[in-house]
Amino acid sequence: MSQDVLIELKGVAKSFRAADGSARSVLEQVDFTLKTGEIVALLGKSGSGKSTLLRIMAGLIPADSGKVGYRDRPIQGPVPGIAMVFQSFALFPWLTVQQNVELGLEAQGVSANEREKRSMAVLELIGLAGFGGALPRELSGGMKQRVGIARALVVNPDILLMDEAFSALDVLTGETLRDDMLELWDGERISTKGMLIVSHNIEEAVMMSDRIIILSSDPGRIRSELKIGLPRPRNVDSPEVRALIDQVYDLMTMRPTHGVVGEAPAIAHLAYRLPDTDVSRIEGVIDLLAQAPFNGRADLPQLAAEAELSDEELFPTYEALALLGLALVAKGDIALTSLGHRYVAADQALKQDIFGQQLLTHVPLTAHIRRSLEQEASGTLAEKRILELLEESLKADEARQVLKVAVEWGRYGGIFEYDFHTGRLELPQTSEE
Ligand code: ADP
Ligand code: MG
Repeated sequence: MSQDVLIELKGVAKSFRAADGSARSVLEQVDFTLKTGEIVALLGKSGSGKSTLLRIMAGLIPADSGKVGYRDRPIQGPVPGIAMVFQSFALFPWLTVQQNVELGLEAQGVSANEREKRSMAVLELIGLAGFGGALPRELSGGMKQRVGIARALVVNPDILLMDEAFSALDVLTGETLRDDMLELWDGERISTKGMLIVSHNIEEAVMMSDRIIILSSDPGRIRSELKIGLPRPRNVDSPEVRALIDQVYDLMTMRPTHGVVGEAPAIAHLAYRLPDTDVSRIEGVIDLLAQAPFNGRADLPQLAAEAELSDEELFPTYEALALLGLALVAKGDIALTSLGHRYVAADQALKQDIFGQQLLTHVPLTAHIRRSLEQEASGTLAEKRILELLEESLKADEARQVLKVAVEWGRYGGIFEYDFHTGRLELPQTSEE
């Protein structure tokens, strides 16, 4: 391994056991290198395996196969040089801020004096001077996450892994903390040599990183990579940053494929994780898109600003619109298709008809449910049967979630119904008028 390589993954794979005991592949063939001096951002849909990948690098869980190396050693358990910051802060509520920060040093056998000196220094660095004696519950979310970061930094880590460290915070607090981190990094006030940040937020990834990698889903593989050559601090409104944000939007909203361009899209399978969005949001977004000033085509960041929703909230809706053939996402824009234009102009009954037609032609799960119902003499089917089918490739709670989305969509499209009390799916009652 060359001198400047901090972390190297080669052909890493990981699977977990599904409810029925079968193995479900979460990561496959992941190759990744983190070099000295780099901040890399890792983007990907929820459930694509980002946290799993980070936990493998931190030595918290083993990979099933492939090489996982830190400098020139294999990672076979937690490594002192690698520290992690979690979205959930993960502080001990009964310990003071300073005690929380000192924990990692205690584990390394650092003397009490030295521990105090180092924790005070890092608390000051991160803007928590004076808070050493506070209990976590006295702190706001932003201050709690500062403690999470201080606890990671106090061990002078070589590598910092941040798992959505800013996403539980409100926008302003998240940005401030992110800028403070970059100041420490760019000012070389911390000893950290490389950072990997997992994020949901495209703007954050573009503002912070030297390189962005995007993980595809089912199984997670590195799908694309983009170098960000701009010096920091970056101006979020500059044309260069806006263009990069558009480019990443574009990469993120590409139909997920199994890695190789031109292969059949992952959508063509039954247990595809239907985007977690509901009909009212789909309707809200498509209406907004149709109206002035967008008139059917919008820059994604502008649409997000207008909708006052985050990317995280909007991506599933974009995906649903694309899946249903109502809009297309390309080059950082979303545009209504001709069907989408017809849809927006239609009255409510026609809208629901179009919705149902699209479910039957483009969404394998809803089409399968409808077909199965038609084959049943009773015209009904226990939801359990569909759940079992989904659980062949999804965890139980994910299967439930996917079915929930399918049921809402199917009801709206008038292609099946669901009786909550009996837990049965049913063909809709045809109204004979
Ligand atoms: P992300 O961080 O990208 O949202 P995760 O790495 O948390 O994704 O999870 C990827 C997939 O692996 C998900 O489907 C999740 O349910 C599954 N998974 C993660 N950890 C476990 C585990 N310990 N046991 C079983 N399945 C898991
Ligand atoms: Mg995660």
